[in-house]
Amino acid sequence: MGAMMITIDGSLGEGGGQILRSSLALSLVTGKSFRIERIRSKREKPGLLRQHLTAVHAAAEISRARVEGAEFGSGQLTFTPGPVAGGAYHWSIGTAGSTTLVLQTVLPALMVAAEESEIVLEGGTHDQHAPPYEFLAHAFIPVINRMGPKLESRLERHGFYPAGGGRFTTAIRPTQKLAKVDLLERGDIIRKEAVAVVSRLPGRIAETEIGVLKSQLSWEDECFAIQEVKNSPGPGNVLTCLIESQCITEVFTGFGERGVPASRVATLLSDEVREYLSSGVPVGRHLADQLMIPLALAGGGSFRTLPLTRHSTTNIEVIKKFLDVEITVTEEDRLIWCVDITHK
Ligand code: ATP
Repeated sequence: MGAMMITIDGSLGEGGGQILRSSLALSLVTGKSFRIERIRSKREKPGLLRQHLTAVHAAAEISRARVEGAEFGSGQLTFTPGPVAGGAYHWSIGTAGSTTLVLQTVLPALMVAAEESEIVLEGGTHDQHAPPYEFLAHAFIPVINRMGPKLESRLERHGFYPAGGGRFTTAIRPTQKLAKVDLLERGDIIRKEAVAVVSRLPGRIAETEIGVLKSQLSWEDECFAIQEVKNSPGPGNVLTCLIESQCITEVFTGFGERGVPASRVATLLSDEVREYLSSGVPVGRHLADQLMIPLALAGGGSFRTLPLTRHSTTNIEVIKKFLDVEITVTEEDRLIWCVDITHK
């Protein structure tokens, strides 16, 4: 230990849970220990919440790590990983905390592990401010699969805030060496799909959302669908737009929220979709921050995206603490930024 202990300031940039998850992910892959302080200090309820604790426990379990500070509300943590082992794992958050974010913590290590893995995750699958299941399955995983590993995930039950109770599985066939990817062009658009999902809520919410999207996006009628979910334990509403192009698939999401009119959820989403479509870039804002770790581990790659978010710039800082990579960000145009990752 000792010599390789990396220190991370959890209040850096975005100052949220991603700094912790990225540190865990990078620690597992590199074998380097770290200590993080001021965890999530820029959030209303700082420290480790259930979702973050589950991520810590998951990371510790796959690597038999030595961990100090993994308690509810804790603002600091020391993590010393052992060797990573793939296998069958089951993690349950116990609240509606995001399951996809827990998967992303362990994924970089499990996709290059010696053994295959089969992961079951339970909790929230469609949470505000986290990747919804469809984004994971249709936007993130296909890019990862292009790098060599073979991941397959299946949604068994939606889990919404606050009831949770969602469940999805992911099978991971690892690769020995990750291939670089360059996502510089989008290519022609081949499919557009907008789906409004409601669970234990009036169907008119979904109808309103689809009505607004239809009038604002002007896509053909067959692009739109409504889905009523019956097996989720609580109420929820989520609105998803999928855009499949020749070179990439992107997924954008609006989350229904108590007190927020359905028309507003749909308008915000259509603004996001139209910005993406008009920019011509392949990679949207969320995919951008989430691709940085896989690309950095692959020894490089590049992508064109929208202006970088604070999640992205913060992630770059965390990556540089663990890996000797050069990450160049160039503003090519107002809505076109290029990220280029190379090993030094
Ligand atoms: P907190 O900071 O409260 O701990 P958190 O743990 O959910 O929050 P953040 O640091 O805010 O973590 O990171 C959220 C992650 O979820 C980011 O990687 C972000 O890109 C991703 N994300 C948020 N909304 C979406 C969305 N609609 N689609 C895809 N990914 C999303």
